[in-house]
Amino acid sequence: MPTNTVITAANEAFLRRINELSGEKVTRCEQCGICSAGCPLVAEMDRTPAEMMRMVQLGDEDIAKSKTIWICASCFTCTVKCPRGLDPSKVAEALRQLNLRKAVDYIDLMNIPKEEMEILPQIALVSAFRKLTG
Ligand code: SF4
Ligand code: SF4
Repeated sequence: MPTNTVITAANEAFLRRINELSGEKVTRCEQCGICSAGCPLVAEMDRTPAEMMRMVQLGDEDIAKSKTIWICASCFTCTVKCPRGLDPSKVAEALRQLNLRKAVDYIDLMNIPKEEMEILPQIALVSAFRKLTG
């Protein structure tokens, strides 16, 4: 996260882009942390959902490189609990789109181990390809 509070035009442009892609108004987040407390996957994330929201508010583009945006399972636990009516899963989806639209994939289809290909349900593979590749 930025160590100072100077918000540049680039920071503002990034915030506007994520607001536009997600349909959310991220500046409404009050950083209560309820989304992070209830997220079933937070232990696997490198940034909590509340941190993700804060980094977007600050226009910190590093959040688009985080593991968190790919780990979010769009389970909507945070969505139903947020006191500000925000949907962090849509913000994670917008951040994934930034990568996928540049053809930056999160998984390499050619390098899934053969043993995993044999046991993974086909629907899981199709879902992973849709969510994690551009
Ligand atoms: S629950 Fe809502 S208001 Fe609270 S930190 Fe998460 S997104 Fe922000
Ligand atoms: S939608 Fe994503 S961020 Fe929200 S609780 Fe579920 S996994 Fe966590």
